[in-house]
Amino acid sequence: MPEDRPLKFKVRAECSTSKARVGRMQVLHHHVDTPVFMPVGTQGTLKGLLPQQLEELDCQIILGNTYHLGNRPGPEILDKAGGLHNFMNWKRALLTDSGGFQMVSLLKLAEITEDGVKFRSPFDSSECMLTPERSIEIQNSIGADIIMQLDDVVHTLTTGPRVEEAMQRTTRWLDRCLSAHGKPHEQSIFPIVQGGLDPVLRTKSAKQLTQREVNGYAIGGLSGGESKDEFWRMVHLSTDILPKDKPRYLMGVGFALDLIVCSALGVDMYDCVFPSRTARFGCALVQTGQLNLKQGQYSTDLRPIDETCTCSTCKTYNRSYIHQIVTVETVACHLLTVHNIAFQMRLMREIRQSIENQKFPEYVQNYTLKVFPDKNYPRWIVDALKAVSIELL
Ligand SMILES: [Zn+2]
Repeated sequence: MPEDRPLKFKVRAECSTSKARVGRMQVLHHHVDTPVFMPVGTQGTLKGLLPQQLEELDCQIILGNTYHLGNRPGPEILDKAGGLHNFMNWKRALLTDSGGFQMVSLLKLAEITEDGVKFRSPFDSSECMLTPERSIEIQNSIGADIIMQLDDVVHTLTTGPRVEEAMQRTTRWLDRCLSAHGKPHEQSIFPIVQGGLDPVLRTKSAKQLTQREVNGYAIGGLSGGESKDEFWRMVHLSTDILPKDKPRYLMGVGFALDLIVCSALGVDMYDCVFPSRTARFGCALVQTGQLNLKQGQYSTDLRPIDETCTCSTCKTYNRSYIHQIVTVETVACHLLTVHNIAFQMRLMREIRQSIENQKFPEYVQNYTLKVFPDKNYPRWIVDALKAVSIELL
C-alpha cells in the first residue's frame, strides 16, 4: 500500500470460528476501532448533542449527509471554513454519503439518467443535476475522511433489468467519481456494491469494484424492506468477495441483532438513523429491545433506563422523570439520544473485546439467549450464524 494513502486499515484480531474481525482504521483526523457504529449527524452534529458530547460517548467517527450539508451551510461556506471538521469543531473521523440516496428518497421528482440524478430544487424549484462529479466536488468541500461514490439506487424490492442497469451504472459512476476526486491524498472514496437481491449481480458488482484502486468498500441497496433471509445472504456473499485487508461498510444497518450477525459475517462499519430517531419518539434501547418511556407503566418507575449503563442519563435520571418530560421534546430527546448512542457504542465495544479475547461465539450465544430466553430464535439468525459456524444455545 502506498505510504500516502489517506486510510490505513489493519486487522488486529480475527475470530477463529466466524468471519468476525477487529481492525483499526487510521484516517487523517483520527483512528477508528472496528467493528464500529457511526451515528448519523444530518447537519454535521446529532440533534441536541455537541461534538464534545459525542467524544465523551466514545464516538470515533460520525456520518454527515451531503444532501443537507450541500444546501446548508453549502460548499462555499465550508470551503472558507476549511471543511466541516473546522466548521463544527469535530476533531475525529467523518464520513459523508453521496447525497444521491437522500435525493431519491426525499424528492419525489428525482429522475435518474446516465448523466446523474435530475431533480427540482426544493428551494426555488429550478432544475438541478447531481452528477458523480458534483457529488465528489461537494464532498471535497465538506472534507470528510471517507466519502461515498454516487451510486444508482434502486428500491430493494425492484426486480428485472433495472437492477442490472443500476449495478453496471454504479460501476461507471465510480470511475467518474475517482477521476473527479480532487483530494485523493486526504479523502478516500468508497465504492458501493449493488446488484439487488440477485446473487449473480451482487457477485459481478463486488468483483468489478475490487478491480479499482480504493481504500475500502461499502455494501449498499440492502436494509430496505427485503426479507432478513435475503439480507444476510447478500451480506455473506459480499464479504466473501471483498478483500480482507480493506474495511467493509454495510450501509443503513443499526439494530443490535443485525450488528452482531453482520459482524459475524465480516462487516466492519455500520450507520443508521434508528438510535437517534427512536429517541425522538421517546424510546430507549435496551438489550431486550426498546422501552417506550411514554407508556404509563414508567410513571412510578424510579430505576434508571438500564442499571448496567454508565451513560450520563442513566447515572442521573430515572424512568419516571424521563416519562414526565418525554413530551417536552428537546430535553427528553437529548437524554434519550445520549443513552441510545451510549448503548450502540457499548455493544460495539463488547463485540470487539469478545473477538479480541477469542470469545465472540460465546458472546453471540449469550446475547441472543438474553433476547430470546425461550430460544425461539428467528430462523434467519440461526441460519446466518450457522453459515459462519456459530451454533446458538
Ligand atoms: Zn444509559
